[in-house]
Amino acid sequence: MLILAARYLLPVSQPPIRDGALLIEGARIRAVGPRVSLCRQYPGTAVRDLGEAIILPGLVNVHTHLELSVLRGDVPPGHSFVDWILNLLQRRRGLSWEAYAAAAEEGAAELTRSGTTCVGDVTATGASLAGLRKSGLRAVVYREVIGLDDAGAEQIAETPFAHLAAMREEVQGSSLEVGISPHATYSVSPGLFRVCRDLQQRLGLKAAIHIAESSAEIEYLRSGTGEIRTRLLPATGWGDVPPPVLGATPVQYLHRLGLLDPQCLVIHAVHLTEADLEILAQTRVAVAHCPRSNAYLDVGRTPLKALRDLGVPVGLGTDSLASAESLSLWDEIRFAHRAHGGLLSPAEWIGMATAGGARALGLDHEIGTLEAGKRADLTALALDGPEADPYEFLLHEASAAKVLLTTVDGRPRYEREAS
Ligand SMILES: [Zn+2]
Repeated sequence: MLILAARYLLPVSQPPIRDGALLIEGARIRAVGPRVSLCRQYPGTAVRDLGEAIILPGLVNVHTHLELSVLRGDVPPGHSFVDWILNLLQRRRGLSWEAYAAAAEEGAAELTRSGTTCVGDVTATGASLAGLRKSGLRAVVYREVIGLDDAGAEQIAETPFAHLAAMREEVQGSSLEVGISPHATYSVSPGLFRVCRDLQQRLGLKAAIHIAESSAEIEYLRSGTGEIRTRLLPATGWGDVPPPVLGATPVQYLHRLGLLDPQCLVIHAVHLTEADLEILAQTRVAVAHCPRSNAYLDVGRTPLKALRDLGVPVGLGTDSLASAESLSLWDEIRFAHRAHGGLLSPAEWIGMATAGGARALGLDHEIGTLEAGKRADLTALALDGPEADPYEFLLHEASAAKVLLTTVDGRPRYEREAS
């Protein structure tokens, strides 16, 4: 047992505790409170005092593609969403599994260094699993599925599904969980979506789907026209595939196919109608909000206020290094705060990056707040000096450089070396 103490403890589930502490027993938190009370209650327990620092729940980054860290800063946005995808596909050509795995390992280390303890990662190759295992992070790793040939949906699914089964074997007993990610409405046929949905339901898998990211996607589903039709599909060998459905929004389309449920994470959700918002609320999906990626690709802005007003759970994601400059959620939080013009308070932004992310990944019974019984997934940041409000400090000043310690299941996964 260990008592971890600091100037401030931010449980997130209750107001900050000045001179706070928590008692860690094995992988879990046993008690939270003022340091003096804990020391009195558990006499003789070793105390580690982090001094002028803030202890808070580990950050939860709900959307990354860690293997794409190999393309850090290397994919220009071009003039449109389709331009960016074509640039991405072109740069991916010839990359080896080993290169992806090494990049994922580096990406995972960047996450722990910046105070992140949990991630929702989409992998097309499975390579990120290796990097995540080494890092000791907690993660939901979604195996990506892509294919537009509706007639052969079952066959197309065979390879990723076999891979998914192997990945599930591999993560047994670890802090990782395997899910499924039918990529997007324009890259997965209706038949393949159904096959994915059936597998998801049979195995009780979590799902993540890119939805309503760009106006090109909206146009393609509504009328079968636009750049996805004229440039993206021909470039990927699907030029003669008919559009899946005409006259629907991505949300309506996936709702009809039965893909939207509380196990589903909807990534981006930028272009939403009033009816779409109602569907998202009714089906109790969660949304991964990636403001820097949305700005980099210039696709628009997620209607965050409307989603929150309807009670849709929203977590923050950095997305990959092919569309964001860093994997640090501190950078994402600050960008979001500016982009949404003070829509949320500092405490609400930190709440979204911790408890909100945990809920979006379906892990809020285990992580996201510092409470007795939950996993000891936390991070601690050095304060510059006496602070009036720890939440203000975190929103405006926090960065990877200030992270002192990151633990998952009570085990240090990053620790700043004493200077
Ligand atoms: Zn993505």
